[in-house]
Amino acid sequence: MLPDFELSCSLFEQSGLTLTSEMYAKFSTYAEFLVEYNKNVNLTAITEPEEILVKHFIDSVLLCKYAEIPQNSTLIDVGTGAGFPSVPLKIYRPDIKLTLLDSLNKRITFLKLLCEKLEIEAEFIHGRAEDISRMTEYREKFDFATARAVANMSLLSELCIPFVKPGGSFIAMKGPSEDVSLGYNAVKILGGEVLSEIPYTLADEERRLIHVKKISQTPSKYPRNSSQIKKKLL
Ligand code: SAM
Repeated sequence: MLPDFELSCSLFEQSGLTLTSEMYAKFSTYAEFLVEYNKNVNLTAITEPEEILVKHFIDSVLLCKYAEIPQNSTLIDVGTGAGFPSVPLKIYRPDIKLTLLDSLNKRITFLKLLCEKLEIEAEFIHGRAEDISRMTEYREKFDFATARAVANMSLLSELCIPFVKPGGSFIAMKGPSEDVSLGYNAVKILGGEVLSEIPYTLADEERRLIHVKKISQTPSKYPRNSSQIKKKLL
């Protein structure tokens, strides 16, 4: 289901990453299960083997090349969908303590089955980020929050920053088209500071990681409920 091991290794190497045979076996299982499950449940538009490898797996793993994630960090992936970026990251960095959050239960069901197949430990949360981050057990409890392709920078900051401990980081994975600076006031209001915008190229596409450091607690009135968020962005 994936390109063969040799080609897969060389695609990883082109992005400055190393692929072991153990990782390759897990990525193969992931790709196979994703494509099979996707026939009945909409998870991804990407189903070609090389595209899955590059646009889902390598893209996800690049996060830990460009942002330093210390050993045994806790990480919540907000709007994880079919597990991107955090499940490939966990295959590459098994020490990361993973929490997967999505508002669609059919995606959480897929992720539970997937992680069982991959023998990956994770916590699964079905719910909306703006509700879950108000719960004491999840508020400001994570070293990292990540998100790819979920919302614009302002909305995404309100969904993700409340989960991060002061001193931790929120990392947004972005394509080329959005003016992310429109969300930087929201970052500040929520207790964050933009540390860096890291550009990279993947499959001839320009992409960016926005690395936000949490420098102070998020004021208790955030996140607002979803109807307030929809009415007016921060
Ligand atoms: N991150 C994945 C990726 O890069 O392939 C999935 C992206 S998909 C376009 C957006 C996902 O975010 C969906 O699975 C959706 O259910 C979830 N989502 C959207 N708003 C959310 C919210 N407020 N709280 C939790 N999940 C949300």
